[in-house]
Amino acid sequence: MSGYEQPGMVEFERAATLAPQPLIDPFGRSITYLRVSVTDRCDFRCVYCMAEDMTFLPKANILSLEELDRLCSAFVAKGVRKLRLTGGEPLVRRGIMTLVASLARHLRSGALDELTLTTNGSQLHRYAADLAAHGVRRINVSLDTLDPAKFRTVTRWGDLDKVLDGIKAAQAAGLAIKINAVALKGVNEDEFETLVRWAHGEGMDLTFIEVMPLGDIGEGRLDQYLPLSMVRARLAERFTLDEIDYRTGGPARYVRVAETGGRLGFITPLTHNFCESCNRVRVTCTGTLFMCLGQEDAADLRSALRASEGNDLLYAAIDEAITRKPRGHDFVIDRRHKRPALARHMSVTGG
Ligand code: SAM
Ligand code: SF4
Repeated sequence: MSGYEQPGMVEFERAATLAPQPLIDPFGRSITYLRVSVTDRCDFRCVYCMAEDMTFLPKANILSLEELDRLCSAFVAKGVRKLRLTGGEPLVRRGIMTLVASLARHLRSGALDELTLTTNGSQLHRYAADLAAHGVRRINVSLDTLDPAKFRTVTRWGDLDKVLDGIKAAQAAGLAIKINAVALKGVNEDEFETLVRWAHGEGMDLTFIEVMPLGDIGEGRLDQYLPLSMVRARLAERFTLDEIDYRTGGPARYVRVAETGGRLGFITPLTHNFCESCNRVRVTCTGTLFMCLGQEDAADLRSALRASEGNDLLYAAIDEAITRKPRGHDFVIDRRHKRPALARHMSVTGG
């Protein structure tokens, strides 16, 4: 310490250099949105997502609720303002409400703008009121069809009535809901208009998603793939779709349906129209950080998390990973690419 420095100055400067820095990637994008898969397990086996005989990760590899809390909180300290819990099915993770209750402190402190989750809705009737009580304001519910038999076929194990009850419970608790529906050739093609009328009639947003080539699911993607341009063209025959300037930093593009007054989104991950505004990264339930949904490159945060009780190693590992966030991705579904573009399943990175 030089003679001119006040006592305590060095400590102050040391603390300042160690203070978690905001996450800005090499392309100048601020990373403010984290999606965390809290489990790879699920009580459904959706045909586009999982094989029926999925092998799940050994429990020992999975981060504990305390570790998930620490990991999320480290990202919040580094400027993440929106946290989405996903999976697998987040609401089948044992003790999930303990994690939600704990993370809610970041909402109360103002460090976090939003704590939300993506769910298949099967457990919502149990948890909707608690979610709302902990400060969750909006959730995404995945639902591809309103036909009970088709619902059973698509999810293999799901019960439509239970999901609809869950949606009612969420509405009663005051949660805003966005329905996500994967557009599936030959499965829900005849229901797009019905889904729009139903979701908007219930005061919910609706987003259609294109099937992505993630993970081996035991059957061909070509059979399922339906370009959203086709979905949109068909809906445009029934409805007036007015372009709106609503963006979430993700791959969704939104229109307002004049006849229903509701918002309708289209997520087309196979196009590159969103990468330049990408503000998000994803962590798996084993603490692997994926900088892009469509790339294999990843960083192991679990080792950093478990190596010490302090967060310096973790911050350093996150910083290093963000320097590797790619400009964009490269999904392909066509006849020359029969294998999935990426070996990992959506239930690992959580969509
Ligand atoms: N289990 C929860 C659910 O279904 O909402 C959260 C996890 S799930 C993996 C997240 C979203 O990914 C769901 O909306 C699901 O429909 C979607 N999804 C899963 N596999 C997909 C695929 N291969 N292509 C496109 N979307 C997929
Ligand atoms: Fe489970 Fe969601 Fe995958 Fe369906 S999409 S199998 S509900 S993780």
